[in-house]
Amino acid sequence: MKITEHLKQAEGKTLFSVEILPPLKGKSIQSIWEILDPITEFGPAFVDVTYHREEYVYKKRENGLLEKFSMRKRPGTVGICAAIINRYEIDTVPHIICGGFSKEETENALIDLNFLGINNVLLLRGDPIKSEQVFSPDPNGHRFALDLVEQVVQMNHGIYIDEDLKDVTASAFCIGVAGYPEKHFEAPNMKSDLKFLKAKVDAGAEYIVTQMFFDNKKYFRFVDSCREAGIHVPIIPGLKPLTTRKQTQILPKTFHVDLPEDLLDEIEKCTDDSNIKNIGIEWCIRQSRELMHAGVPCLHYYTMGNGEITCRVVKELF
Ligand code: FAD
Repeated sequence: MKITEHLKQAEGKTLFSVEILPPLKGKSIQSIWEILDPITEFGPAFVDVTYHREEYVYKKRENGLLEKFSMRKRPGTVGICAAIINRYEIDTVPHIICGGFSKEETENALIDLNFLGINNVLLLRGDPIKSEQVFSPDPNGHRFALDLVEQVVQMNHGIYIDEDLKDVTASAFCIGVAGYPEKHFEAPNMKSDLKFLKAKVDAGAEYIVTQMFFDNKKYFRFVDSCREAGIHVPIIPGLKPLTTRKQTQILPKTFHVDLPEDLLDEIEKCTDDSNIKNIGIEWCIRQSRELMHAGVPCLHYYTMGNGEITCRVVKELF
């Protein structure tokens, strides 16, 4: 079922969904079952599976020279989606990114998804890889998520890249895109970021999932600004419990988000990580309750490889 249908059928009740990462290359799918088995007890509406682009690594050879390798640390997004549907009969949302893909490769991935009966996609640009200063697309790929939205919409109209195809089947993908309550880090200002977010929605995106945030006021302000800018699709808040002292530095640096003073004050007082975990989980539960009370359509939890923490949150709420 499409994500938009899930939201419609909920008739105002707040749903929840989770995002998982494919296991590291070489690991078994068991690690995914360990995360999802307990969470599925509480009835997530859908599961997002992230996509991880290749990175370049250098290995030292016997002659002392360095050899450059392209490596994908977490392959398997499409396969994991199919395996989740098979095991739990839950809808999955594979993430599709621009980076590292030509338009033809994107089309082929979409064809695979179509054959598997997966008709939801979250379309993203992807971040620059470590060896790049700024994002650079594949020479025959897309520069912005907007271009990816346009490609999928074309396919939904039965228009493939190869114009000579005859009697083609149109796809029926429900398209989600990303939004940033605290602004995308490259955007010069919020107004500009909202302009491009609106362009994705005008092109055919049917809902937005936000970057994580720790202060609900930022989400509410973002939703108001979106509505003022003419963006009227559902905006699903993304949440992640902060669970270690290290994350107080990593999360702002990686995701370009602020941590509220009150949360930091509570963490300051902690002497060990188990207390920090409890505080982070409590904070996330309080955020979730307030968002539910405000009538958000769905709460989207970033598991980041830790199902136990998400489970402790949803157990209190669903
Ligand atoms: P875009 O919408 O293309 O925007 C990128 C930047 O360009 C923004 O600053 C925007 O304002 C600007 N912009 C947009 N269009 C134009 C235009 N036409 N002209 C000029 N400027 C423009 N990354 C992964 O690699 N894999 C994942 O699975 C993944 N999942 C994610 C899930 C969620 C919910 C979120 C919020 C992010 C996720 N990301 C993922 C990270 C994402 O790829 C990065 O944040 C990336 O830097 C931006 O992606 P985007 O789709 O928002 O880009």
